[in-house]
Formats: sequence, structure tokens, C-alpha cells
Amino acid sequence: MELSLTGKRALVTGASSGLGLHFAGVLARAGASVVLAARREDRVIAEAGALRDAGLSAEAMQLDVTSADCISAVFDTKPPFDVVVNNAGISREDAAIDMSVEDFEAVLATNLTAVFAVAQAGARSMKDRGGSIVNIASILGLRVSGHVAAYAASKAGVVQLSRALALEWARYGIRVNALCPGYIKTPINAEFFATEAGHAVTKRIPQRRLGLPSDLDGALLLLASDASAYMTGSVIAVDGGHLVSGL
Ligand code: NAD
Repeated sequence: MELSLTGKRALVTGASSGLGLHFAGVLARAGASVVLAARREDRVIAEAGALRDAGLSAEAMQLDVTSADCISAVFDTKPPFDVVVNNAGISREDAAIDMSVEDFEAVLATNLTAVFAVAQAGARSMKDRGGSIVNIASILGLRVSGHVAAYAASKAGVVQLSRALALEWARYGIRVNALCPGYIKTPINAEFFATEAGHAVTKRIPQRRLGLPSDLDGALLLLASDASAYMTGSVIAVDGGHLVSGL
């Protein structure tokens, strides 16, 4: 089994914060030359610099995943990517009865349409040599909760898109898999999970704790590396058993 990414070039979208930033560090420590891409270029320049200071290989690029021009500019760079992690995502929480169509479309544009656009650009550049595309979905793509209709629909779309692309691109040696995190503690949700309502959510997770970003490392490295050479179209949940919680 080979979890090493030495000699591989990897792209992580939405790498300026949260899980994307964490994933970039994990891939770099596994030996990849990592490109941290995000809208806030100053942030990724600083974070890539911190990784280089730690002796790792990292560079920064500006990327708004909803912009076709930005995507082309990133995939025009050489050498081509061996690994693409589609991590950028947004959420708009609102009762479905109140949610505007504009908000619904904004979530779909970033979480689903852009995942397709980045994966397609990646696949075009990987077509002659193969590669691995890891789409970050969510357990909300497999089950539902209140006030996240757009997000849940977009992540269900990512799950099925990953399977559809896996089918079409296997002939090019390109693997496409979906990683579905459960509730992972990151700076943006830490405050919520410290509240009474947050504790109530945690209690429904069979392992009785939130995930940590590091809980995703094994699945990420498995899917990114040659250790998963015979896996494509797979959907892996890392959720402390949340998907199998009792009804
Ligand atoms: P986050 O908000 O900290 O990170 C999302 C990142 O995506 C941010 O850096 C943001 O700037 C970036 N982004 C948003 N729109 C973008 C755009 N148009 N172009 C480029 N970058 C853009 O949240 P996170 O928790 O780190 O989430 C990362 C991914 O993991 C998302 O896809 C999210 O849906 C998924 N996820 C997170 C959890 C969790 O519990 N944290 C659970 C399941 C799935």
C-alpha cells in the first residue's frame, strides 16, 4: 500500500481556511507539491509560505471556483496536477419556505457547478497520464437536516456527479471519489458547537464527539494516493457513525 504523494502535484481549492488549509498541509506532508488556491490570494500566499518554512513544497494561486477564467489560469500552469481536491464550499442556512432562489442558486453554483468545472479542467489536463479527483461532499449529501435544503441538494449532487464522472473518466486512468465528512470542528463552527444546540447535535453522533480535521487525513490520503488505485466512484463517509444513528 502506497500512501506517499512524493512526486505528485496537488491542487486544493478553498485552501485559505478550515478543512482546505488543513488538507493542503496533509498532502504536503505526504510529499506532494501543493498548490493552495483561494479567492483571498494574500491568505494563501501567507499559508503557502508557512508550509515552505516547514520544509514542504507549496505555492499559492488566486482562484474563485465560480470563474471560468480563474480555473483556466490555474490549470494552464505546469506541470499538470496529479491530484485535485474540490474543497471550496459555502452554505446558506434558511428555512426552505423563506430561502430566496438567488441564495439557492449561489450555493449550487459554488458547491456543485464549480465542482464540475474544476473537475472537468482537471480531467482535461490529466487525460494522458491519469490522476485522482477527490470531491468533498458531506453526510448532508446522503441524509437531511433542517434549514440546509440548498446545501444538502448541492452535496447530494456532488455524490452523484462523482459517480458519473468516475464512470466516464475511468478510461483515462482518472479516478473520481467523494469524501463525505460528518460534523467536523473548524474555526467557523466552533462557537455553535459550544452552545446548548451544538451539544444536542453532538449527542446524536454515535461516537459522541465532533470530528477533528485530522480525522479526515486517512481517507483523504487513501483517495489522493495510489493506495486507492482500484477505487473510483466510491463515497466514503467519515462521521463518527452519524449516518447510522438510530431513527
Ligand atoms: P470554510 O468555510 O472554512 O471553508 C470553505 C472554503 O471555501 C473557504 O476557504 C472559502 O473561502 C472557500 N470558498 C468559498 N467559495 C469559494 C469560491 N467561489 N472560490 C474559491 N474558494 C471558495 O468551511 P470548511 O468547514 O473548511 O469546509 C470545507 C469543505 O468541507 C466544504 O466543501 C464543506 O461543505 C465541506 N464540509 C465541511 C464540514 C464541516 O463540518 N466543517 C462537513 C462536511 C463537509
